[in-house]
Amino acid sequence: MNLILLGPPGAGKGTQAKMIEDALGIVQLSTGDMLRAAVAAGTEVGLKAKAVMERGELVSDDIVIGIISERIDEPDCAGGFILDGFPRTVGQAEALDVLLSDKDKKLNVVIELKVDDEKLVERITGRFTCAKCGEGYHETFKRPAEDDVCDKCGGTEFVRRKDDNEETVRSRLTAYHAQTSPLIGYYGGAGMLRSVDGMADIGVVGGQITEVLNNL
Ligand code: AMP
Repeated sequence: MNLILLGPPGAGKGTQAKMIEDALGIVQLSTGDMLRAAVAAGTEVGLKAKAVMERGELVSDDIVIGIISERIDEPDCAGGFILDGFPRTVGQAEALDVLLSDKDKKLNVVIELKVDDEKLVERITGRFTCAKCGEGYHETFKRPAEDDVCDKCGGTEFVRRKDDNEETVRSRLTAYHAQTSPLIGYYGGAGMLRSVDGMADIGVVGGQITEVLNNL
């Protein structure tokens, strides 16, 4: 099963991707995570991407298409993958069509998480992750059971993304509406799109996604 999670920053793509990953044993491919790793490692790609990401703008299509194309060839993707944060432009979607067909793979479904912009700012500015295992939390919606201790690994250090501040979030939303939302029409026209209510509780959204996947 190969699928895309589509939606603005903060819609819950990463959270839902991790849940699908756990349930179906297929791998989450987040271009944002890959780019952040490249920035942290100081690679050539990371050096090119850093300032663009800090402004909340999109990294060039060539860079992300190259990263995804290589990643899909890794053995752990053979059983299926969840694209989280890719594609983000029509150019990337067209390139994905070509590269999947070249690799003899196909897309099963595109799931859109529908959310309301103003709530996204609250969602994004309140989120943080465990520095050790990457588990995601939120000040209001998903606190660790014990304050300052990760539920998953017991880690006690947490980090926030540099681009999760209000000003950058607004630029990221502008980029989404201008460059990424046309993908709703692109995949809708191809009969690939299913939409779920991303404003519901995490578990409820997960249930809606499971239903979409069961009905394929
Ligand atoms: P994310 O973790 O998906 O919110 O991505 C964080 C940042 O990485 C974005 O604001 C972009 O600057 C960059 N990025 C991630 N995925 C893509 C993509 N598919 N195309 C262009 N830029 C991307």
